Amino acid sequence: MKQDKDRGLRLKDGSKIGVIGAGPAGSFFTFFAFNLAEKLGISIEIDLYEIKEFTKTGPAGCNHCGGIVSESLVQMLAEDGIVLPPQVVRRGIVSYTLHVEHGTAVIDTILHEHPIASIFRGSGPLGSNQTTLQSFDGYLIGLCEKKGAKIFRGKVTDVISEPDGISLITGNSNRKYDLVVGAVGLNPKALRLFQKIIPTFTPPKTANTYICEYYLGSDTITKHFGNSMHVFLINLPGIKFAALIPKGVYVTLVLLGTEINKGIVNLFLNSEIVLKCFPEGTVLKDMTPCQCFPSINIGHATNPYSDRVVLIGDSASSKLYKNGIGAAYLTGKAAANTAFRFGISKTDFKKSYQPVCSGLDRDNSVGKLIFAVSTILQKSLFLKRILFQMVVNEQVKERGKREMSSLLWDTFTGSAPYRSIMRRTLHPLLLATFLWNIVTGLFKSAFSLNKTSR
Ligand SMILES: Cc1cc2nc3c(=O)[nH]c(=O)nc-3n(C[C@H](O)[C@H](O)[C@H](O)COP(=O)(O)OP(=O)(O)OC[C@H]3O[C@@H](n4cnc5c(N)ncnc54)[C@H](O)[C@@H]3O)c2cc1C
Repeated sequence: MKQDKDRGLRLKDGSKIGVIGAGPAGSFFTFFAFNLAEKLGISIEIDLYEIKEFTKTGPAGCNHCGGIVSESLVQMLAEDGIVLPPQVVRRGIVSYTLHVEHGTAVIDTILHEHPIASIFRGSGPLGSNQTTLQSFDGYLIGLCEKKGAKIFRGKVTDVISEPDGISLITGNSNRKYDLVVGAVGLNPKALRLFQKIIPTFTPPKTANTYICEYYLGSDTITKHFGNSMHVFLINLPGIKFAALIPKGVYVTLVLLGTEINKGIVNLFLNSEIVLKCFPEGTVLKDMTPCQCFPSINIGHATNPYSDRVVLIGDSASSKLYKNGIGAAYLTGKAAANTAFRFGISKTDFKKSYQPVCSGLDRDNSVGKLIFAVSTILQKSLFLKRILFQMVVNEQVKERGKREMSSLLWDTFTGSAPYRSIMRRTLHPLLLATFLWNIVTGLFKSAFSLNKTSR
């Protein structure tokens, strides 16, 4: 009987899909849904609901993000025929600059084919008047519109499960769908709407982060930041990742950690190492950038699906601290594949969509371990000096042989799964080199201590 019911839950000619949220997850789902429908020769309708207007600057059009599109995602998008146009890419990032207490090193990356891109999710910070800017999220919506999606500007205020579909309610509309896709990010009110229709669904765990954009002008950005992402491995409490990312005439500051607050931000902004990156005399705390403390996904949702409904992107599973847009791509594509190739019942999503979420969740467990080790490194001046020296020494080697540099690049940009980073870290040769550097470092310290005490 149950199997008969499941068999009935399939998309067919004329099926209607409602997608709530046109961030990357909602747009990627829509894009792949239309592709699959075309391949299967069925005609479908997709309505995409979105509160924000990505043509606007500041909070009205912003989806709070560092705006790094990882190398792996740039490659996957290219394979799907999506090539980010120049007006969306603010800078092609080709290197990272590592800042530690011992110095600064520019590390050339081991890019395969495509540089990673820095983008704005909306039309830039509040007050920005760059008419040539195009928002990343706006660009993806445009692709969906071209494929036939209808865009509804407005907030979905209720989701009602009915025997023959799910209705989405806005201030002035009530429409019923065969399938509803929740791509609402970490918006707590919107997630509660899904808890109402999926009683076993628990939303992801979140933490506070900090992001702001400093206007410095194109020449200053080029001179001081270039095409490099600046990463800080400095000993400040609560920070797991700190970076300055150049974007056109702005530089974006991102602080990730367990609970970033104003105190931590001020400590960071007052740090000598950070101030050195800016033109002499800049007083960061006196500048008033466009800023906020958005939430980030640090733990997956449970049961993000049921009959006729599936949650994707940040609302379900993401990648810990990095490449959330890449995770939105993976979950959006997997949900579309399940819906079109298998069906839209809870059983179908469990069988074919859940494994993709579980893969991300397992990888994040390894990621937690990597960030725990990186916190130890951050706190130890001695270990950090060894790491810094190894990375600097590698710059004379051929690109393919710069193992430590490449590990750090993948950790900072989220370009590779955490499992792969861990496997490469545990490579006997790399470990042996690191241990050898520790032993020689200890020996040198003991020797210089001995000399000074004589
Ligand atoms: C500080 C910070 C820095 C980050 N940096 C990076 C980075 O450099 N690279 C990277 O890949 N990832 C980064 N991430 C993660 C990335 O931003 C997210 O993983 C990604 O945005 C998730 O996409 P999504 O589509 O699932 O959700 P979102 O991007 O949050 O999109 C959800 C959409 O749903 C809409 N919505 C919500 N409720 C409703 C409703 N009721 N009705 C209609 N619309 C609704 C919202 O307006 C929004 O547009 C960062 C995150 C943070 C917090």
